[in-house]
Amino acid sequence: MTAIESMLATFEDVAANPHVQLQKHLAAGKRVIGVGPYYAPEELVYAAGAVPFGVWGCMGTPNEARKYFPPFYCSICQTTLEMALVGMLDGLSGYMTTALCDTQRAASQNWRAAVGNDIPLIFVSQPQNRASDFGRAYVVESYAQVAHEVEECAHGIIDDENLGAAIKLYNEWRAAMREFVKLAGAHPAEVGVQTRLAVIKAGYFMDKAEHLPMVRELNGALAALPESTGVFKRVVLSGIFENIPAITEMLDEMGYAVVADDLAKESRAFAMNVPEDEQPLQALADAWCALEGDSLLYDPEKLHVKKVVDLARASQAQGVILLLAKFCDPEEFDAPLVKAACQEASVPFLQIEIDQSTETYEQARTQLETFADIL
Ligand code: SF4
Repeated sequence: MTAIESMLATFEDVAANPHVQLQKHLAAGKRVIGVGPYYAPEELVYAAGAVPFGVWGCMGTPNEARKYFPPFYCSICQTTLEMALVGMLDGLSGYMTTALCDTQRAASQNWRAAVGNDIPLIFVSQPQNRASDFGRAYVVESYAQVAHEVEECAHGIIDDENLGAAIKLYNEWRAAMREFVKLAGAHPAEVGVQTRLAVIKAGYFMDKAEHLPMVRELNGALAALPESTGVFKRVVLSGIFENIPAITEMLDEMGYAVVADDLAKESRAFAMNVPEDEQPLQALADAWCALEGDSLLYDPEKLHVKKVVDLARASQAQGVILLLAKFCDPEEFDAPLVKAACQEASVPFLQIEIDQSTETYEQARTQLETFADIL
């Protein structure tokens, strides 16, 4: 096994066994707070001395959660609640979530009804009016309330010093992840689609202070190698997430390389940079206000659509694959615009519907095979 293979094996092990990581944090005497989608200010959790633990649903049928949701709710919301109801999140001292879409907003209230005080909900309210003074003031006030709730769940105190240190760590981690995404795109022979995902996914379960040096070491090893994109079909993945095992296996099997992504759970989550030269809570608010180019954000100029095409061009991708989360309104609204923009720019485009409750994707296999032929 080469050094890179050995590093990747460690990430794969963590990504495949989140419950082991959770137990490890608890055994070390840490309090652990679940952090859901999107743009949650998890630096607050870190500053309070707890471990932020990513919770974005899981594969499987949400039998218990269906008692609380109509069937047309997205799988992230349904399977996240399912995880709590079947005991997969036992040990968490809280669950932080934002509400950037209608589904998420309703799901947060279902959490309160179904899970209650067993795992207290830390609800993060963020305004879509990000460019206004009143929008910024709202975020500052909202984050101050969130900080208070985090302190209660974490049994820790947040001050400017520990929050500033958390912001610095997270900025460094996000920069390393952005670098990794570029390096993985340039080295698909060493980092396949599934292993690329494992490196990213492991970051959701590990302490960032442990994940960061591992990613840096991997980045250093990849940077020392020549690029290996030669025989691969270079694509950009767009959407909310890609972690459907059947799909990532097919992408590897058919010789695809993910040279860049516009996934909410991947590059969109690492895009933020929090200022380090101002009062930390206000800095977190400013980072939120500076976000743009995302289907989940108020985006009157549709910068998100342009971003996907620009990303494809900048990364010299041969095509764009939109992994459209089933019943996801924000992504469905942008999907036809992204498709049209790609067509106008002569970038081949493929759309595949995905859902964490569905395990077999034979129709997607045919679509991916045909798309590979086109590329
Ligand atoms: S953005 Fe889409 S996938 Fe995410 S919670 Fe909302 S509906 Fe579900």
